[in-house]
Amino acid sequence: MRRDRRINMDFGLTEEQRIIQDTFKSFCDKELSWEYVRWMDENVDFPPDELWQKFVDIGFFGAAAPEEYGGQAMGWVDQMLAYEQICKKSMSVALAMGVTSGFGVRFINELGTKEQKDKYLPLIVEGKWKTCMALTEPGGGTDILGALSTFAEEKSDRFVINGQKVFITGAHVADGLITICKTEKDVKKAKSWSTFIVPREAKGVTIGKIDKISCHHCDSVEIFFDNVEVPKEELLGTRGNAFYEIMTVLNPERIAVAMMGVGITAAIYEACMQYVQDRNAFGGPISRFQILQNY
Ligand SMILES: Cc1cc2nc3c(=O)[nH]c(=O)nc-3n(C[C@H](O)[C@H](O)[C@H](O)COP(=O)(O)OP(=O)(O)OC[C@H]3O[C@@H](n4cnc5c(N)ncnc54)[C@H](O)[C@@H]3O)c2cc1C
Repeated sequence: MRRDRRINMDFGLTEEQRIIQDTFKSFCDKELSWEYVRWMDENVDFPPDELWQKFVDIGFFGAAAPEEYGGQAMGWVDQMLAYEQICKKSMSVALAMGVTSGFGVRFINELGTKEQKDKYLPLIVEGKWKTCMALTEPGGGTDILGALSTFAEEKSDRFVINGQKVFITGAHVADGLITICKTEKDVKKAKSWSTFIVPREAKGVTIGKIDKISCHHCDSVEIFFDNVEVPKEELLGTRGNAFYEIMTVLNPERIAVAMMGVGITAAIYEACMQYVQDRNAFGGPISRFQILQNY
């Protein structure tokens, strides 16, 4: 007798996930109208404070943070359901909010000491500490292990950083720059990196604007480090182990990048569907033509 070994898997959303999706859809429909997104793209290099505060109020920055720090410790599917709705409206807003919620919460929560978590996580959840991740350098991003040359030299109770980063999203407004530097000289490259939390206001930090062809309401900029002194307490994670550590942070972040593609594609599809039903030609909506029905 053949045994039926099929397992029924339910890929549908739970009731709670549907509520998250609906809540963020309504929120984004209200706060990210096409007119407002266009206004931002033509006038600002980062979403205005009022919009930032609305994301704080809806709990966006606490989504991934542990409950003891005021967060909701939501799972990845739940977080991405919310994120998709933002991506459908504005890639810039998704980037702007995403670097603090994604890089900020994850770097601190995964790699931080108890003191660092106590210091930074509540501030992130309350929207009072913006951050960014400074990894890419002018020498290259894909081959970052070969390209990274920004160096943090140990000097008594601090590290002194010299070098340059490029394309760093949100660094021009970030309070803390999560910066990956080389700290070791005579070891394998993969064992030579360390991560630091560098205050953007630190002496020797300079930001340079990069003109982009899109996503103007969330700049990605250059950072120059000229003898920037960082106390040893701002070392994040284990010295020399950052290459391996940032993989644990960056792998889930790729899911968020994929959601940008999903969100943008869904938004285009919905806009096209609406357009072919509204637009008339030859006495009726163009949606009745066979070529358009193929889609
Ligand atoms: C909008 C935006 C935001 C960004 N935000 C951040 C940020 O917040 N923080 C940060 O650290 N970085 C950020 N980056 C930088 C990003 O991570 C790099 O652009 C990326 O890693 C690619 O590096 P690169 O631009 O130097 O291109 P390169 O590494 O020089 O690559 C150039 C081209 O060669 C191709 N290529 C390279 N190697 C291979 C290979 N082995 N096989 C096939 N093709 C290959 C690449 O796909 C690419 O098309 C951002 C970039 C953009 C565009």
